[in-house]
Amino acid sequence: MTIAANLGYPRIGPKRELKTALEAFWAGKLGEAELQSTAAALRAGARAVQQGSGISHVPSADFALYDHVLETVCAFGLVPPGYGWSGEGPVSLATMFALARGRAAERAAGIPGDAVALEMTKWFDTNYHYVVPRLSAAMRPRLLDDRWTRALREGLQHGTRTRPVLLGPISLLLLSKTEDGTRPLDLLPAMLPAYADALRFLAEAGAVWVQVDEPCLVTDLPSGAEDAYRTAFRALAEAAPGLNLLLTTYFEGLRDNLQLAASLPVAGLHVDLVRAPGQLPAVLEALPRDRWLSLGVVDGRNVWRTDLRAALAQLRAAEAAGFGKRLMVAPSCSLLHVPHSLAMETALDPALKRRLAFANEKLKEVAVLARAVDEGEKAVAAALEESDRALAEARADERLHDPGLAARLAAVTPEMERRTSSYPSRAAAQAARLGLPELPVTSIGSWPQTAEVRSLRARLARGELDKTGYDAEMERMIAEAVRWQEEIGVDVLVHGEFERNDMVKYFGEQLAGYAFTKHGWVQSYGSRCVAPPIIWADVSRPKPMTVRWSAYAQSLTDKPMKGMLTGPVTMLQWSFVRTDIPRETVCRQIALAIRDEVADLEAAGIPIVQIDEPAFREGLPLRKADRDDYLRWAVACFRLSASPVRDETQIHTHMCYSEFNDIIESIAAMDADVISIETARSNMELLDAFAVFDYPNEIGPGVWDIHSPRVPSAEEMARLAARAAERIPRRRLWLNPDCGCKTRGWAEVKPAMANLVAAARQLRARAV
Ligand code: GLN
Ligand code: ZN
Repeated sequence: MTIAANLGYPRIGPKRELKTALEAFWAGKLGEAELQSTAAALRAGARAVQQGSGISHVPSADFALYDHVLETVCAFGLVPPGYGWSGEGPVSLATMFALARGRAAERAAGIPGDAVALEMTKWFDTNYHYVVPRLSAAMRPRLLDDRWTRALREGLQHGTRTRPVLLGPISLLLLSKTEDGTRPLDLLPAMLPAYADALRFLAEAGAVWVQVDEPCLVTDLPSGAEDAYRTAFRALAEAAPGLNLLLTTYFEGLRDNLQLAASLPVAGLHVDLVRAPGQLPAVLEALPRDRWLSLGVVDGRNVWRTDLRAALAQLRAAEAAGFGKRLMVAPSCSLLHVPHSLAMETALDPALKRRLAFANEKLKEVAVLARAVDEGEKAVAAALEESDRALAEARADERLHDPGLAARLAAVTPEMERRTSSYPSRAAAQAARLGLPELPVTSIGSWPQTAEVRSLRARLARGELDKTGYDAEMERMIAEAVRWQEEIGVDVLVHGEFERNDMVKYFGEQLAGYAFTKHGWVQSYGSRCVAPPIIWADVSRPKPMTVRWSAYAQSLTDKPMKGMLTGPVTMLQWSFVRTDIPRETVCRQIALAIRDEVADLEAAGIPIVQIDEPAFREGLPLRKADRDDYLRWAVACFRLSASPVRDETQIHTHMCYSEFNDIIESIAAMDADVISIETARSNMELLDAFAVFDYPNEIGPGVWDIHSPRVPSAEEMARLAARAAERIPRRRLWLNPDCGCKTRGWAEVKPAMANLVAAARQLRARAV
């Protein structure tokens, strides 16, 4: 019989119960037992929903209080010293949260000291962030906390034999960093006995299937990884011969790793047919017929309903190739990356809602497909018809396509993606217009989003404050911020972004083609959730979005005011994007909308416009072979948005959240006059790139880490800037914080900005 399977269920809870419980626990308002019982209730709810939807392989141990990579590390005792773990016995919750959030955050829990949190980074190309393990050769991995058997038993007690999920040993190691020069894979021999124990105990406790996630199999593998895979899976297979291991890959096709994956001694292989539908024939050819094949045909990364007939055709192809008796249907990856349920979305456009499927709806699709394979299409005729109808309705929906926009896109010329003159002539024109000092001081855009700002927005939403009253309050705050920046001597001012709830949402709400959910929360990291907007139709800008605020701010000062926009790539990257047209096309549509805003800002007398692209690097494909194509269109979209202006109008961009050294040439190709970039936290690691690459335009490497509540001294910031000046000519260097100040309080921002101005003055007074 075809098995309906799931690979992972959202952890956060339909009403973000886990977030609430975690934050109460961290605040000392909830005990550990209560936190654990909330978590257990969420898991029980998840099992019930999955079983109720007809899923027979329900995952377990996919749940994590903070992050599954972190829990794996704690289960195996891979804990660096300094976080309150003695080296013996299970790792406490306090230590786990200290690893995730830093020890200062856990001092309340009785752990002294202030060790910093482990680094966090994006889980492959998703917006989920995992805690990066920090390993060393001295570690002695062993199974300290058998979270997998515990998860299995929990299900069994409630009558469900779940399929525990383990992050496989090779992916765990490849996702880790080492401290002492050892290569992560060198730790494999020490790791394998711990994994073997976990599997053996699972078999003893009654597990039949275990899902071993090896997403690194879809990436370009480093040397030695292939052998490591063979060694590891030989050991795992021997550890528990009766246990069925499902080798699980997702987020891309296997490509050159297919033969390797197909040759490993496991009971089954899961492949992602949403990201890589074209890999099916090769998989069918490569996989021995005594293996199970799990096909990920329901998109675990996006919110659209599945084309059930197309998915069924793929399943039939596998059946015809001889996998009919060993077939599983599943989402492409864990459903962690989509919201819980559509049921709560009462305010969405009804036609749009009919085209959507969140986690709970996707599970039903999986079950329907499994039934269709076994019992024929007639058995699920109603579901197939509903899927057909939704697709047909979408195809016929004229609101999706804006003919005027299509014509405008077709008329885009290469000149429109280029400034009129090259950077040196622009720089001269801008210098003449702006009259800035050497080492100009600016900020990244937002000033603190205080309780006052948030309460004004809440009162507007509740109707307690009308739009006129709200706007007047915004103007008052802008005026205060402008006066303060003038007083302390900032060179390029910003209005402060008080009117913005979120840098994507604020623009999405004013653009055609975007929709917003009420409860579409997705875990970003720990207790942090985001509700990405949905781009469902052609994107265009009905009217100016920011001009009124920037123009008002400029009217208050003779200093240059910087207009502030979110760039097209970031607007795309932080949304759920329609799939009926290429991503590149959606991005170009947004680029045109931003371009119009840039032109309007210029026309309103704004001399500088910053187009933020913090998510620029996130869009980078997993495989190196695909990267050039992405970078080509992402750079082109940025340039399309930035290039309607005259030479004397200065374009800035801003980037943060990732390492940029390996894409520095593309960043240069964006041809912004000035880029501000996060680098204070990594102690100016960015500057390494300038040793080999001569960045041609102006740059402001952040000298104040705004992620920490510390107020840096003028000397400290001057020191960082002086280091930058060794690599970047002073006349092209700016002074600014790392990122926007919206999460900070005025008590830190005011002295820190004053120190920044003082740092600039110190440096200007010094000879080169
Ligand atoms: N202009 C935005 C701000 O200052 C940039 C935010 C970001 O880079 N994430 O808030
Ligand atoms: Zn930033």
